[in-house]
Amino acid sequence: MIRLPNHPLPEPAHSRLVEYQGEIDSLPDYEARVERAKTRFGGLNRKGEPTFDSVKATLSKMCVGVQRCAYCEDSLADEVEHIRPKALYPDWVFAWMNYLYACGPCNGPKNSHFAVFAQGTGTLTNVGRRRGDPVTPPVAGHPVLLDPRMDDPTAFMRLDLVDTFFFTASAAPGTVDHQRAKYTIDLLGLNRREALPRTRRAAYQDYRAHLSQYVNERNQGNEPEHLLRLADEIRTRQHATVWLEMKRQHLLIPTLKRLFEAAPEALGW
Ligand SMILES: [Zn+2]
Repeated sequence: MIRLPNHPLPEPAHSRLVEYQGEIDSLPDYEARVERAKTRFGGLNRKGEPTFDSVKATLSKMCVGVQRCAYCEDSLADEVEHIRPKALYPDWVFAWMNYLYACGPCNGPKNSHFAVFAQGTGTLTNVGRRRGDPVTPPVAGHPVLLDPRMDDPTAFMRLDLVDTFFFTASAAPGTVDHQRAKYTIDLLGLNRREALPRTRRAAYQDYRAHLSQYVNERNQGNEPEHLLRLADEIRTRQHATVWLEMKRQHLLIPTLKRLFEAAPEALGW
């Protein structure tokens, strides 16, 4: 996961979202706001609806790689995901900063699961609502889940490029940063979904092979235009986090150290 660029939502879509949110916020009762948020969003979030076509087009430009999911970077992003679930936070249902483009396998299990560091105590508190639970507002507090619109996930977690291709928390156990990384990795199944570490490993081998090709062709004195094209091929590949981690960890891994020393310009890609 990497931090997404923030593109402004063009008008009139932005003003429309503010209006829709106003409708929800004007309802006096929390339970009624939850219900209306669900039905109103469901009615608007469809192909051909101008506001949501604009939302999706803008989210698509913010995606990692070729319209890949902001959470797993692997699958096609085709669902407007509420970072704060709309079933818990109807006051965020039409908030532009609460949207990202995700894939079904990430969005589905996440559903209405959410946790906060409760105001006052700072304790990690699950605020997700199960079927049959009373519809009451969640405990107030700062979200635990890393938010790629607001946070830089690479500052919280690190990818193992040597063995497992699992994400691990960078901070020491017991710290807030460690809890945030661990919660995010677990909730989204970034290590648990067996295909994800495998596909990150394949991306690593692919990036390494491309970088090696670049170094060889540069040493053979190929044309600058040709080398720029090879560089572009690396820049636009899938799994941006894998490439970022290769740059970040290159001094620790002999093969990468050798390649980046031969082509230090690649550290800027
Ligand atoms: Zn995903």
